[in-house]
Amino acid sequence: MSTLLEHGRTHDCGSLRAADVGATVVLFGWVHRRRDLGARIFVQLRDRFGITQVVFGKDLDAAAYEAASGLRGEFCVAVKGEVVARGDNSNAAMATGEIEVNATELQVFSPADTLPFNVADDDKLDASEALRLKHRYLDLRRPSLQKNFVLRSRLATLTRITLAEQGFLELETPYMVKYTPGGARNFLVPSRLNPGMFYALAESPQIFKQLFMVAGMDKYFQICRCFRDEDLRNDRQPEFTQIDVEISFATPERVFAPIERLIRRAWSEVLGVTLPDPFPRMTWAEAMNRFGSDKPDLRFGLEFVDITDLAHRSGAKIFEAAKLVKAIVVPAAHSESLSRGRIDKLTELVKKRESGGAKGLAWAKVQEGGSWTSPLTKAISAEFQAEISARVGAEPGSVVLVVADEPHTVHAALNALRLELRDSLDLVKHQGSDPWRFLWVTDFPLFEKSERGYVSSHHPFTSPRLDQLALLDSDPSQVLAQAYDLVLNGNEVGGGSIRIHQSDVQAKIFQVLGLSEAQIQQKFGFLLDAFRYGPPPHGGIALGLDRLSMLMCGAQSLRDVIAFPKTQKGTDLMTGCPSGADDAQLAELYIGHRDLPATPES
Ligand code: ASP
Repeated sequence: MSTLLEHGRTHDCGSLRAADVGATVVLFGWVHRRRDLGARIFVQLRDRFGITQVVFGKDLDAAAYEAASGLRGEFCVAVKGEVVARGDNSNAAMATGEIEVNATELQVFSPADTLPFNVADDDKLDASEALRLKHRYLDLRRPSLQKNFVLRSRLATLTRITLAEQGFLELETPYMVKYTPGGARNFLVPSRLNPGMFYALAESPQIFKQLFMVAGMDKYFQICRCFRDEDLRNDRQPEFTQIDVEISFATPERVFAPIERLIRRAWSEVLGVTLPDPFPRMTWAEAMNRFGSDKPDLRFGLEFVDITDLAHRSGAKIFEAAKLVKAIVVPAAHSESLSRGRIDKLTELVKKRESGGAKGLAWAKVQEGGSWTSPLTKAISAEFQAEISARVGAEPGSVVLVVADEPHTVHAALNALRLELRDSLDLVKHQGSDPWRFLWVTDFPLFEKSERGYVSSHHPFTSPRLDQLALLDSDPSQVLAQAYDLVLNGNEVGGGSIRIHQSDVQAKIFQVLGLSEAQIQQKFGFLLDAFRYGPPPHGGIALGLDRLSMLMCGAQSLRDVIAFPKTQKGTDLMTGCPSGADDAQLAELYIGHRDLPATPES
């Protein structure tokens, strides 16, 4: 007997329309829903392209009808039948809603046990995430998740096409690399052939892509996995995917151009959105000044206004000692819900350590003429109240929120406040005329100060601005880097830099970082060796493919765009990983037994 599988499908489940009425078709798919109305059995057949209604009836085909009465959710089947118009029963909510298929043949490829959760309840799913991750292959059948992966795949394909068109070579770098302690925490892989030795899983292809430039590859990209053994708070994953790029003879603008071209094309072809050309740029200093963040969300206002001079002259005690006094204004249209209780909560927020640890939050509600209702009215004259209102652009009804402190505290606190107000007052919805605000943030500081001295803000191969080399000796904290981030709606979606290719500059940076000659040789000797043989000036960037996909999809979590993600404890609930290894293998690897702490469950 010739099977429908051999025959092959004529259409997928998303493509039949009114114009196909009368055609005999073969569809393959899964039973999404099934309704048995006696004389008729209605089956919604689903594949990743869509859903088609199939009708079984004794009068249409008795054998097929008989077989259909045994169908259950998620059986995988083939159906042959005739496309008929639904006429008045058309379902406008379905792409195939104008038609249905009157079945004349049904073949069951495979039955399905009762599911642990219902794939068809995609929009009102109440299964726990743990249950869904345990059966991720079923979770991935849900149309909403499939949509995400179709989008992610298109983004990856467009990346390859767009970068290849611009002369980039797609090259691979090793995942098993030299272990160099001190950076991000590496996963270690023991080497059986070299007892007691370890590989590290690459945290990024950084050094190798630079070596491609030394090797004369000119322009490189790779869609590649990176591995970091870090705490997985904030929706991080231990393995994630980057669009990794490096360019010879680069300037920042020569890095921005191909990346913008890729992003503009993806947004246009996948989302139908035209993005600006070029993307706006902002220095790190300006971003911190105006938004207190190196990844400002530009979809709404609430920019900071510096009122330090007025605050100092106002005579108010609370402002006297503060190095910086800045304000944000909640416009009258949104300030109604800012009750005293709400403002108390905001005060608690700015006092938290993670939001800057400010001493407090001053506030004022602006009246007609600019004067205030505020706990500060006694301390500040009506004249100054009006002057401050005018400076910050507050209208009657607006609420002015003020933080006075050390500059970094003011910026961190007002940033936390700004983002909290964005969410609680739904400001993006009310003010966001443009839903996709890309921004290049440039000129980051080269170093950050830590307890152990200076550390690189980006990584130690990042070039300082060449006009600031002298500052490396006098005041490293003032040196700016030729580093940049790509920011989208308050999210960092990429980062990179122009690299150092001059060995004297590199040596200087290592010196500022406090690395000894032995450490430098141990960690980066091969790179410095390579730089003795005519390295081209070069620079690059890495974009987070997972995060870009997540934002494009409107998904809330990276786990919604990573096919087989790990839990917050780094476990895979489906395969039960990580797991122990047997004694023989451990012995081969020269790994001894220790008393292990209890294994986490999820
Ligand atoms: N390797 C860097 C990172 O993973 C990106 C770059 O500088 O190109 O963040």
